[in-house]
Amino acid sequence: MNYIVLDLEWNQGRKDSTNFKRLPFEVIEIGAAKLDDNFNIVDQFGSIVKPRLHRHLHPAIRELLSYDESLLRTGRPFYEVYQEFEDWCGDDYMFCTWGPLDLIHLQQNMDYYYFDHLPYPLKYYDIQEIYARTKLNDASIHPSLENAVEKMKIPIDGAFHCAKNDAYYTAKVFQKISHRRLSDMCSVDCYHYPTCEEEEITVRHSNYTEYISRTFPDKKIAMADDHVSSMNCYKCNRKLKTKIKWFSNNSYQISVGKCWTHGLQCGKIKFKPAKYDELFVIKRVEKINKKEYERIRDRQKQIQAKRMEKRHQKQNAS
Ligand SMILES: [Zn+2]
Repeated sequence: MNYIVLDLEWNQGRKDSTNFKRLPFEVIEIGAAKLDDNFNIVDQFGSIVKPRLHRHLHPAIRELLSYDESLLRTGRPFYEVYQEFEDWCGDDYMFCTWGPLDLIHLQQNMDYYYFDHLPYPLKYYDIQEIYARTKLNDASIHPSLENAVEKMKIPIDGAFHCAKNDAYYTAKVFQKISHRRLSDMCSVDCYHYPTCEEEEITVRHSNYTEYISRTFPDKKIAMADDHVSSMNCYKCNRKLKTKIKWFSNNSYQISVGKCWTHGLQCGKIKFKPAKYDELFVIKRVEKINKKEYERIRDRQKQIQAKRMEKRHQKQNAS
């Protein structure tokens, strides 16, 4: 199997333009590096896409890019470049990207030109996340590619924010990170999310499980669903004994359970917007230690105290 390290540049439409809703982010360059299963770079791809909807670069994008409209005018249409790219990828490969956005924007553009969907569920390696997890010991931070390249002392011999170069740099970072348990660190793209129970996705990793639900009309109905709110051990799949019930913490729901064999585990639910004002759920259940458990318990108490205080204030005011 090959690894296709993909990087895109895209232009952003102006929000007041009529074309913004049709395609907010238009791909203007596809860059990629192909790695064999020993992580050797065996080929590279780079092609400029001539924009069709947003012909002028958004000021923020222009500032970022190492080129301007005069180069874009020399590009070829998306359908032509993408077809060529698809053929170049071959049949047996896995995408690797720096962060989740490239695959989302690629598929938005593919949909706009009526290309067939990518395989479902689409698993890929998010090199940014793997780098943060393995090198910085914190998967929740999002370092820039430049930052990682500098830290890993990878020679810089071309401008960043050029898709072909960025794909090459991402491939170099990918070569340098540990490949032990690589398959354990795959991500699932959620551009096409489950629309019915049969399409729901559960991915087991060595220290967490991830579940992607079908769509629900709202958060309350989602949380009332057994599949969404159930807490099962990431390792043995047995039902966990509840230590802290689901509560809302900023933008997500959190709870803690315990497996008698595999210990304390934290559940986190994030709501993601879907079509027709619906939403779907991404739930992660992962192992935590006692300190983390106590931190979550303190957070819950804090939130409860705040709520009580607000209630009192309301009562006093009336
Ligand atoms: Zn267990």
